[in-house]
Amino acid sequence: MTGAERAAAIPARSRGVIALIEENCTSCMLCARECPVWCIHIDSHQEALPAGPGGGRDRTRNVLDRFAIDWSLCMYCSICVEVCPFEALYWSPELAPAEADIRDLLHERDRLASWVPSVPPPDPLDEHAPPAKELAAAEKAAARQGRRAQR
Ligand code: SF4
Ligand code: SF4
Repeated sequence: MTGAERAAAIPARSRGVIALIEENCTSCMLCARECPVWCIHIDSHQEALPAGPGGGRDRTRNVLDRFAIDWSLCMYCSICVEVCPFEALYWSPELAPAEADIRDLLHERDRLASWVPSVPPPDPLDEHAPPAKELAAAEKAAARQGRRAQR
């Protein structure tokens, strides 16, 4: 079997590597705290957001500085993917290449982000399932906006 044939035989939902959607990550640390082997490394800092022209208090937000996974420790349990409340982590069927030096199995955020395009799209909804609550809420909001625009 050639390398290409082997790659084609890998099921789309295989746990190959974890892809990071950096824009979704709020540095909440939940994944790092729940990881049973402590192989997720996150650094972040806080940035001040000044109050708007309408007043109110200044706020702060976390800015991600580092996100890395050590594949030499990861046991592919998927807990981090399941617990992330902001949909920032997904399994990709890509396989992380073997490395001659164990230190090269520590993958930083750029490498984790590079796997996002290979994450398979979600399965289509069951045609008999009730409509998602989010859709109903979005339709209501759009209707409200339409009524306002007509006034
Ligand atoms: S899959 Fe499991 S072991 Fe690997 S990084 Fe996520 S929580 Fe940690
Ligand atoms: S749980 Fe999700 S949002 Fe929180 S630090 Fe991990 S990847 Fe980022």
